[in-house]
Amino acid sequence: MGKHILLLGAPGAGKGTQSKRLASEFDLEHVTTGDALRANKDMDISDMDFEYDTPREYMESGDLVPDDVVNEIVKTALQEADGYVLDGYPRNIEQAEYLTEITDLDAVLYLDVSEEELVERLTGRRVCDDCGANYHVEFAPPEEDGVCDECGGELIQRDDDTEETVRERLTVYHKNTEPVVNHYRDEGVLVEIDGEQTPDGVFDDVAEVVEDA
Ligand code: ADP
Ligand code: ADP
Ligand code: ZN
Repeated sequence: MGKHILLLGAPGAGKGTQSKRLASEFDLEHVTTGDALRANKDMDISDMDFEYDTPREYMESGDLVPDDVVNEIVKTALQEADGYVLDGYPRNIEQAEYLTEITDLDAVLYLDVSEEELVERLTGRRVCDDCGANYHVEFAPPEEDGVCDECGGELIQRDDDTEETVRERLTVYHKNTEPVVNHYRDEGVLVEIDGEQTPDGVFDDVAEVVEDA
């Protein structure tokens, strides 16, 4: 059976960067609620009776999309995966409790990065519009400005990577997601990784934990 890995960290901590590489080197499915929601931004959720009728409004304001929507996405994705690395979920205690009901975890990792560094990483992030590869204008620039090294696609800035929305996302993170990190720490299963090393340095630490999981 494939390994079940959970990667926690604030927005910008490097979860996407590390998850993609873990998925390819350990033959795991990369399950990420952020990408799943971005691909379904205009999904009609009006019959669920929430404040907004699509995920888009929540995402563009930096708020969490309602649990009922996200839980369903995760449940389906985990059922279809053998081994997986889960990134971007759970983001509140209710989601963490739901996750416990639907799966078992072999390792829970937390990428630790300071607030100041997070803001710099998020506002400088660029993503490929075609393949989703991650770049940073300063820390991980593409060979040619605005062009994806992997596929030649166009690099764009996400709507929610502007300074104002970044601040809001970090506020939401402290309020809702930090309790999730503390929950796994209290259970004694959290492995904390220094997320401020180079991407390769972080990967070495992460891979060591996953190998033993
Ligand atoms: P980042 O990689 O910067 O942490 P994500 O791509 O994970 O950001 O998430 C982008 C947005 O998608 C979030 O701000 C939120 O609106 C929504 N989202 C992603 N995952 C979840 C989740 N587990 N629960 C609720 N909303 C989520
Ligand atoms: P998350 O999925 O946690 O939001 P990402 O993997 O998308 O984080 O990384 C956020 C930004 O920081 C991206 O622009 C990425 O290129 C950059 N980045 C990721 N890891 C590092 C690192 N170890 N050092 C410097 N920049 C990094
Ligand atoms: Zn690309």
